[in-house]
Amino acid sequence: MHRKERSPTISTPAYGAKKAIAEAKKIGKPVHLAASSEDKSFSFIPKTHQLSDNPAYLHITTNNTIYGTEWHHDPEVEAGVPLIADMSSNFMSKPIDIQKYSMIYAGAQKNVGPSGAVVVIIKKDFLATAQSGLPSMLDYQIHAKNGSMYNTPPCWTIYMIGLVMKWVEEMGGLEKIAINNQVKAKYIYDAIDESNGFYKGTVVPEDRSLMNITFRMATEELEALFISEAKKAGMIGLKGHRDVGGCRASTYNSLPLPAAHALAEFMKDFMVKHA
Ligand SMILES: *Cc1c(COP(=O)(O)O)cnc(C)c1O
Repeated sequence: MHRKERSPTISTPAYGAKKAIAEAKKIGKPVHLAASSEDKSFSFIPKTHQLSDNPAYLHITTNNTIYGTEWHHDPEVEAGVPLIADMSSNFMSKPIDIQKYSMIYAGAQKNVGPSGAVVVIIKKDFLATAQSGLPSMLDYQIHAKNGSMYNTPPCWTIYMIGLVMKWVEEMGGLEKIAINNQVKAKYIYDAIDESNGFYKGTVVPEDRSLMNITFRMATEELEALFISEAKKAGMIGLKGHRDVGGCRASTYNSLPLPAAHALAEFMKDFMVKHA
């Protein structure tokens, strides 16, 4: 979605941004890479960026689901440059300054419900600048005009999202959810940091994700043993993304505090047995 005469600027090739670049190239050339930490295995969030002349927008991915980095502040962007964020994997995990974003999109399936729906939040004036002539299903103006019911929406998914929103309120809102997420992540990062290098975090501490905690061990064999022993202890899904290997603990909103604590304890026990 962009103005025809301008070139999209894409930042932070996290999961999603790489795909966002590929998609943007199909309909809006040229695509300019504003910043990247790819040459350092995406182990940090770039602290500066270089925009193209007259960019249509700047795109960021606020949480890198695969490599485990997260923006812990809303980014500063040059005046007049619309900011678009893929928030799929940390949407509703903490309060954000929504005014900073011209558009936010997030797949429902990480923090707010089952798969099948994408939450899109767009400023009206930005929506008005959308390129025309796109296929209808890709045209947010058409979706907005039709009250998000241009096609039959996935009703069950949306109903479930409604229930999750109520749950967030019952939990005390996003402030409370954010504290919970900090505590959960701290259990696990502490287990990593206090392991004398037995577990190695893959991300610089200040950019560590509170949603996807990535770490490595000395050998792939040890990692495989860790994952299978964890499974025996009732903890699944600890294998890193197939593209990067290693281990990854995802601590989305729905993961209860005791589960994160149990993993940290398991990590300490495993280390005593295998260090
Ligand atoms: C999960 C995720 C998506 C969407 O993934 P699909 O499986 O294609 O629905 C997009 N961006 C980010 C950052 C994600 O974490």
